[in-house]
Parts: sequence; C-alpha cells; structure tokens
Amino acid sequence: MGNYEQVLSLLMEVVSGAGKAEKETRSIPLGISNRHVHLSQADVETLFGAGYTLSKMRDLSQPGQYACNETVTVCGPKGAIEKVRVLGPVRRQSQVEIMRGDCFKLGVKAPVRLSGELEGTPGITLVGPKGSVYITSGLMVAQRHIHMTPDDALYFGVTNGEMVSIQFDGLRGGGYNQVAIRVSSDAALDCHIDVEEANAMDLTSASVVTIIKNR
Ligand SMILES: [Zn+2]
Repeated sequence: MGNYEQVLSLLMEVVSGAGKAEKETRSIPLGISNRHVHLSQADVETLFGAGYTLSKMRDLSQPGQYACNETVTVCGPKGAIEKVRVLGPVRRQSQVEIMRGDCFKLGVKAPVRLSGELEGTPGITLVGPKGSVYITSGLMVAQRHIHMTPDDALYFGVTNGEMVSIQFDGLRGGGYNQVAIRVSSDAALDCHIDVEEANAMDLTSASVVTIIKNR
C-alpha cells in the first residue's frame, strides 16, 4: 500500500510538472520614462555645433534606441527645465516629451500623444551649449503604451493600436486606462509610462503589469 502511494505521488509530480512546462507565462516589464527629447541632425548641430554627432550613454529597452550623454534645456514662457536627456538615434523631426507637471512650470499646453504623432502639436525652445532652436511643433505628453512583437500580441490576444487597461498591485496600486498597444517585429516587450504616472501609484521597474482587455 505504501509503495502504491509513493508511485501515485511520483506520477502526480510528473504529470503536473509536464503541465507547467507547456504553459508559458510572459511577464511585461515596466519601463518608467523621464522627460526627454528626440532631435533631428540639423537641430543637433544647431544646439551642439556643426558636424556634431550624439554619443551613446546606455541602451534603452527598444532595440537601437539609446540614451545619450547630451542634455538640453527646455524653455517655455514661464520657466525652464535643465538637463533634459537626449535620446538617440536622430529622427527626421525633433520631438519633446514632457510630463503634465512640466507644462505648468514651462507655461505651455502639451497634448497627450503617441511618439511620432506630431501633427498639431505646439512648439518649444531648446537650448544647448552652442546655440538654441525653436521647434515649431513636437511638444507632447507621452501616451502610455506597451511595445510588443506580433508573437507577443498573439499571446496576449491584442492588436496594434488597441487600447487596453493595465493594473498594478501594491498599497498605492491601481489601474490606468487608454494604454496603447504598439506592435512591431523589432520591439522588445515593455510597458512605458512616465515618472508622474509611476509615482502616483508608487511603481518601480520591478512592478508587475497586468493587462485588462477592454472588450
Ligand atoms: Zn515606448
């Protein structure tokens, strides 16, 4: 009888172990973005000098994207914010991603936009060590989003451009709606929110993101 129970428990272990191996779970890392700027090569040269090229400080989660050693000052009619990090590589058009609180300090109104959606956005002045430039558009508050590959999208049952909600545990935990799914074959799975959004719920890069589908 003892032998029978031992064999049975061993069998159960093997069966449940096999079940676990088949069931894959993907966790979504949380990336918390501070205010930052993307620059065109022309604006790099106006701010840092003719022929200047941006230098990499560290890689970011998305392949090919990196934080640069260079920073600029963002200037609005009511105030300025120094040491705003430049992200590389250079883009066709400059873009400035600030937070809601920054709008009050700078004295500007910035719409919530996904990166790259510059149409109708206001301008802002940038100051570098060698010069300054007024960009006529490109100022925004970043819309929260989740980067993923087509395979991740299949796994989570979502599509590019879909809006989902995300949920966080913790003493100040809660949820955010209107989180855009951004699918790209060269993406790395990562949920991007800004520092203000993270602070409001005491989130860190170790926080666990749970997707809640809206349909
Ligand atoms: Zn992002």
